Amino acid sequence: MTLRVIAIDGPAGAGKSTVARAVARAVSLPYLDTGAMYRGVAFAVLRDGVDPADEDRVSGIAETVDVVVEPGGVTVDGHVVTADIRGPEVTSVVSVIATYSRVRATMRAAQRAWILAHGGGVVEGRDIGTVVFPDALLKVFLTASPLVRAARRVAQVGGDVDAIAASIAERDRIDSTRQDSPLRPAEGAVTIDSSGRSVDEVVREISDAYDQVSKSGDVTRG
Ligand code: C5P
Repeated sequence: MTLRVIAIDGPAGAGKSTVARAVARAVSLPYLDTGAMYRGVAFAVLRDGVDPADEDRVSGIAETVDVVVEPGGVTVDGHVVTADIRGPEVTSVVSVIATYSRVRATMRAAQRAWILAHGGGVVEGRDIGTVVFPDALLKVFLTASPLVRAARRVAQVGGDVDAIAASIAERDRIDSTRQDSPLRPAEGAVTIDSSGRSVDEVVREISDAYDQVSKSGDVTRG
């Protein structure tokens, strides 16, 4: 059985969550936000007072913590952390802990298990099309200009546009230069620049592309 997976990767603030959620509704697939999984681990690291630079201890936490990501919210060891994981504390350390290979291996296994359990899904992240589901029916690399990305984040969470732009740039730098599964467009991915385009337009482009590949059975797309 081919898993019905749409992989949506891209840098911070490109509109992945909004678009992925709407695409999931449009094509009737469940939605998985893999960034929330990494954020859940980062939350547990801070909760336990562990130094995010301590790769061994952080990896141990990733391997034992219970992070559950469902459309209704995110829990860490049974506690609802849906809002906490979006805060500046977690945001400032998540990319560092996401460079660790043991953390990534644990997250990848959890993501594959989630998709198997749900029979497919629209999966959003940084390495979904490159590493986690390279056989996804459709791979999208969603991007936008740095200015647009910073402005969108400010509209979502408030704050100073220059500070937000700097934080996004730093996360992108760490995410795209790490050794293990760096952020980059997957082979065969459709690159979409969402700057100056409406959410509806982008969602329609992705849903239409998915309808086409589903019909043609073309799983390689390239
Ligand atoms: O998507 P979001 O901004 O919530 O992701 C938070 C961080 O988690 C990213 O900046 C990245 O460091 C990490 N991440 C990752 N691989 C994924 C999803 C997120 O490394 N598939």
